[in-house]
Amino acid sequence: MHTKTNLKALTPQQVVSFVHDAGLPSFRARQLLHWIYEKCAHSIGEITEFSLALRKRLSVQSYLSNLTLLKRQTSEDGTEKFLFALEDGESIESVLIPDKNRLTLCISSQVGCGMGCLFCLTGTLGFKRNLKAYEIVDQGIAVSRIITPKRITHIVFMGMGEPLLNFDEVVDSLCRMTDLMKISKRRITLSTAGIVPRILELGGAGGSVRRTGPPPRMRAPRVNLAISLNAPTDKVRDMLMPINKTYPLKSLIDACRRFPLEPRRRITFEYVMLNGINDSAADAKRLIILLKGIPSKVNLIPFNPYHGCGFRRPLDETVLRFQQILLDAHMTALIRKSKGQDILAACGQLKAGYA
Ligand code: SAH
Ligand code: SF4
Repeated sequence: MHTKTNLKALTPQQVVSFVHDAGLPSFRARQLLHWIYEKCAHSIGEITEFSLALRKRLSVQSYLSNLTLLKRQTSEDGTEKFLFALEDGESIESVLIPDKNRLTLCISSQVGCGMGCLFCLTGTLGFKRNLKAYEIVDQGIAVSRIITPKRITHIVFMGMGEPLLNFDEVVDSLCRMTDLMKISKRRITLSTAGIVPRILELGGAGGSVRRTGPPPRMRAPRVNLAISLNAPTDKVRDMLMPINKTYPLKSLIDACRRFPLEPRRRITFEYVMLNGINDSAADAKRLIILLKGIPSKVNLIPFNPYHGCGFRRPLDETVLRFQQILLDAHMTALIRKSKGQDILAACGQLKAGYA
């Protein structure tokens, strides 16, 4: 066990205190944060801006933790999947998706997921534990380091886990990404299955949301919001996503309407298309009515099958018909080509080596 302080486990404010307590001038904190979050240093020894003596002195009482890369797989379409081990031996996956001049990293917020959505492989793992803010951010740091000189341009919280059930650590990680890694909040998207009170809190409705436990540690940056909607009626959504019984569609859509959006920003609605379940023309029409008045864009994701799952992907023509109905109603609707299917890196296929 480490008795030293893991500098990555500290918030920026705590790094300032650490530097102060160590009797160092305060600019050392800025340098440390720069080397950790922008230069992606693996160890204090790599911080060559510090004299050897200073590096040695800091190494006596502190260290930098790192994710351990266990496996890196590359798909035919260029998508890459990274399997990382955490310090306690648990593992998580992150997926890097190149698209034209974008390089999007899809990151995990929990080990496993307890939400039990029927169509999702991550859901079959159940919930193992929440990630710490630094374990979330470290996915970005580790992958940046691996792909240098290429740079991650976008981050999506669409890997393993339900980010809004790990609210404080996720908000802390968002602050570090925007303030320290210098990734614009407009290029970060958080996806949720619909934890209504936390959506309101994320939107800054703070005071009006009752919260159990301690008050939030910090204020969330206004990142993009995505909702895993997947069905236009409570009947079907109850069946697919158990969370809908706690927060049914009306409360979810109300929260979306209240979510503050900057000009020209929209809420993304993800809709996994399941053959014969939610893919009819009538479903498309219900979806139009449901989302009426919300600045939105709909991402249609044809179901990515995995072993042991009873659902099937609709025919391409069914997906196209569904999209056309939305387009005819002047909605923005994209069919998300599933990337990385051959390496189980597509939406809902992350399992991190758990048998
Ligand atoms: N828990 C959060 C973040 C994970 S995002 C959430 O659910 O929003 C994972 C996305 O992949 C979700 O939009 C989900 O609807 C989608 N998904 C899950 N399983 C899938 C599958 N088998 N095929 C296609 N998309 C899937
Ligand atoms: Fe969890 Fe999201 Fe998968 Fe549902 S879709 S089981 S919330 S990761």
